[in-house]
Amino acid sequence: METSDLVLSLEAELRLAARLLILPAAGECLACYVARMLGEFGCTGSRWVLHYRDLRTPRATALVRRLQDMGVYCDCQMFQNAYRPTLDLDSVAGIGELPPCLGVRAGSTRPCTNWERIRRGW
Ligand SMILES: [Zn+2]
Ligand SMILES: [Zn+2]
Repeated sequence: METSDLVLSLEAELRLAARLLILPAAGECLACYVARMLGEFGCTGSRWVLHYRDLRTPRATALVRRLQDMGVYCDCQMFQNAYRPTLDLDSVAGIGELPPCLGVRAGSTRPCTNWERIRRGW
């Protein structure tokens, strides 16, 4: 194989690996997916919510508005204003180190039972 061919095939492989890395796992819920991506890449706006929606729940057109109603205007705010882990966070190293997703049915934008709604108000 020519060196240039090898480089090209490596590039293709890296691109594929990068795509797979940001792919929601089968049955993985929105919250676990976003938490996993934040752990890997950090917050860059609503990138991970939108990526999940486009791939998994393309008909969930109200998702972004529903999240905004919960005070979620970017990915990391999902875990400040909307959902928190049901288990004690002290027992895990961080938001990206949570136990595996317990799974949701296809097309759902609900979090799995790893998460609960953050209740606000008194
Ligand atoms: Zn953010
Ligand atoms: Zn989950």
